[in-house]
Amino acid sequence: MEKNNNKAKDIFRSEEESTLVWDNIQISFEKTFGSEIYSSWLKNITLIKEFNDYIILGVPTRFFRDWIVSRYLDKILEQVRKFKLSINRIEFKITDEQKLNSSELFKSDPTSKITEIKDSILNYNRLNPNLNFDNFVEGRSNEIALSSAKKICHQTSRYNPLYIYGGVGLGKTHLLNAIGTELQSKNNVMFISAERFMYHFIKSIKKNDMVNFKDFFRKSSVFIIDDIQFIRGKESLQEEFFHTFNSLIEKSSQIIISSDRPPMKLDRVQERIKSRLSGGLVVDIDPPDLDLKTKIIKKRIEDLKSEFQEDLVISEEVINFIASESKTNVRELIGVLNRVITFSKIHKKLLTINDCKNILKDVFNQAKTITIDKIQNTVSNYFNISLPEMLSQRRSRPLARPRQIAMYLAKKLTTRSLPEIGRRFANRDHTTVIHAVKTITRLSEKDDEMKKNINQLRSLLLEE
Ligand code: ADP
Ligand code: MG
Repeated sequence: MEKNNNKAKDIFRSEEESTLVWDNIQISFEKTFGSEIYSSWLKNITLIKEFNDYIILGVPTRFFRDWIVSRYLDKILEQVRKFKLSINRIEFKITDEQKLNSSELFKSDPTSKITEIKDSILNYNRLNPNLNFDNFVEGRSNEIALSSAKKICHQTSRYNPLYIYGGVGLGKTHLLNAIGTELQSKNNVMFISAERFMYHFIKSIKKNDMVNFKDFFRKSSVFIIDDIQFIRGKESLQEEFFHTFNSLIEKSSQIIISSDRPPMKLDRVQERIKSRLSGGLVVDIDPPDLDLKTKIIKKRIEDLKSEFQEDLVISEEVINFIASESKTNVRELIGVLNRVITFSKIHKKLLTINDCKNILKDVFNQAKTITIDKIQNTVSNYFNISLPEMLSQRRSRPLARPRQIAMYLAKKLTTRSLPEIGRRFANRDHTTVIHAVKTITRLSEKDDEMKKNINQLRSLLLEE
């Protein structure tokens, strides 16, 4: 009964509209997903039609659609909803498949393919020379990774593969670039992210061009692959990766790999690949300690001073403050420092700790990691109900509202996707989460009691 009602409402509500500016949404995609994923996948999405509560997006092929839906759909929806909250669903339309079939078939000139794959891969095969050993600051958390990286530059294929893992923003990509830059003059260095590797793999299959793909990668004498955790699922792809890997090792090419986790913890990756990946040297990078953070800040200030020949005075006190307040990673640390430096340049003054607190208020609050567990505990405590009650299937309001509030906060304060949140609430469906978010958003706009509850919960979670 309820379902039918909803359907009727859907039809009623789905009026055609056009308020979205697709370019702006694309910009937000690039920011949230990073340039790799953006340029491989999201850039190619077009907006075909917009309705009050859903949109139709155009994607070139069916494969493309499946890929995007299985990996990025939640986040895409989340971004779109930042521009238009009433959107609750996305549909896809395949735009290019027919075109491809008719035109590509006649155009297949085998020699042009080689240059094409070369050009497109070379575009992404650029090492960044600004990320080198000279400006990588050594500390207790990264010294083993750093010395291993340097060692293989002196003597390649001694540790093969070198596998470096660690959390976000701790310097993995920096180290890979440093190795590649160092070895570039004497070797055929190939540097690619796993995302890109997959992209080219799939493109080659589509174009019936696997031979070139294989040759291309197997020619390298140093093969560097960033963020290997993205290679997962897709048997055929893993198979190809495995063969590439083996043939490179056989001819003593050096392989360097980075990941956010150790080889054995990779998801949906074949066992034999995992064990192959563990077969060389596995090293990790830990989050920086206070000493390393301080050194990184000082080094960066020195570098800026000598690069721009300008006065830049940041007090010891402020340096300490930034180092100790920035909790998570080096990327965040540098972001925070940049902000402080910009501020001090604009206002031409020596900053105090209080200035910094003001400049960085939002950053440090956001950076606190809030987990779904913590939200569930805080919310159930706050409403004086037990956690199992809150997660149960019972629908009485005294349980249902806190449950919805907890889902709402999970959506707002963590980066978890809707299905993930659903799963963590006793395996509920993501549509239930969407419904909860909508309900609480609406209530907190018009109901003072709800507004107060949400604010208090937010500050409980953020201040701890
Ligand atoms: P990851 O690939 O591990 O996510 P990155 O290599 O992209 O991290 O590092 C994030 C930022 O922090 C980059 O700007 C990088 O240059 C910088 N960085 C990380 N570790 C160090 C370090 N030890 N010394 C100097 N800069 C660092
Ligand atoms: Mg990286």
